[in-house]
Amino acid sequence: MKKTKKKIALIIVGCILCAAIITLAVLHIIGFGFLLGFREPSEEDQYISELDALGVFDNAISDELPQTVVHRLIMEHFDAPLPEGKTQKKAIFIGFDGYRADAIGNIKDNADSAIMYTKSLGGLYHSFAGGIKNVNEQATSTVPGWATMLTGGWSDLHGLTENGIPKNDAETVLTSLAKRGYSGSFTVSWAQHLKITYKADAEMAAEEGLPITYTLEKNDDGTFNTVMNYVTKTAGQEKTKLEDPDMIFLTLEYTDHAGHTFGFGNNRKYTQGSIDADKHGYEIIKAIEARDTFDTEDWLIVISTDHGGTTHSHGGQSIMERSTWIATNKAINIDESWKTYAVKAN
Ligand SMILES: [Zn+2]
Repeated sequence: MKKTKKKIALIIVGCILCAAIITLAVLHIIGFGFLLGFREPSEEDQYISELDALGVFDNAISDELPQTVVHRLIMEHFDAPLPEGKTQKKAIFIGFDGYRADAIGNIKDNADSAIMYTKSLGGLYHSFAGGIKNVNEQATSTVPGWATMLTGGWSDLHGLTENGIPKNDAETVLTSLAKRGYSGSFTVSWAQHLKITYKADAEMAAEEGLPITYTLEKNDDGTFNTVMNYVTKTAGQEKTKLEDPDMIFLTLEYTDHAGHTFGFGNNRKYTQGSIDADKHGYEIIKAIEARDTFDTEDWLIVISTDHGGTTHSHGGQSIMERSTWIATNKAINIDESWKTYAVKAN
């Protein structure tokens, strides 16, 4: 009798244990792991760990900068007094369209890397696109991205929540600086910039005689060649203000084109796009350093991207789309004022 009772008790305990294990397994499979205090790392968590593992960023992702700070870097550069021995302020903002933060892993050991060379002079920082949720959120798209960096504000300033719309009168760094006498250039190969978004800016520059050249090129080679002509200055060469702009902005489309066609992320074409853009940026920077007048010029170099991407597109608010980065030859001393920087509409 006693033995039978013991057997029954053992069977009951066994069943309870079995049920508990099955319940745990089922909860885990259907994704209720968080109820039990553990969970599978999401794709976004994995992406953040991968970015950390690159070991190239000078800030933690928790201290990421809004992409608006590109505006602050440029304006503060021109506002700052000229250093000893320098007689001219100069700046170049090199844009790599749709260059995911993890693509820096493709170039981080390259000797001819624009991003890593610029980082070695200043820093490389995590930043973000897409605005602030419930405040001024905007698509992680090309038009809002570049406009945010050029004007220093989010969609509540420039009105660009997505592609396909013209910018309002929020001033870009090019316009602000041109009003102070600094010449500028805007060179791109994506037609929408000049046919829609900055059409009014280009018309205003022409009407008011502002020294800015807006150029729509056919492709990245065209953009690269035009900018190389701007920055090259051989011994004794005389150039006009417009031939030798003080504030140069360009975008290269290698990564964005590869991403939309072959996927953003780890594939051969996207990887090659990230290497090509970075190499061309390096050639431009080396041409700047070879200028006849380089020693007397105070140059700011900024390289950044407008958004990331996931699968074959972008525009959403995932970490893969929101994560961007900024390389600059002038290190940023990050404090709260950098982390919250945004120009507001008057
Ligand atoms: Zn883009």
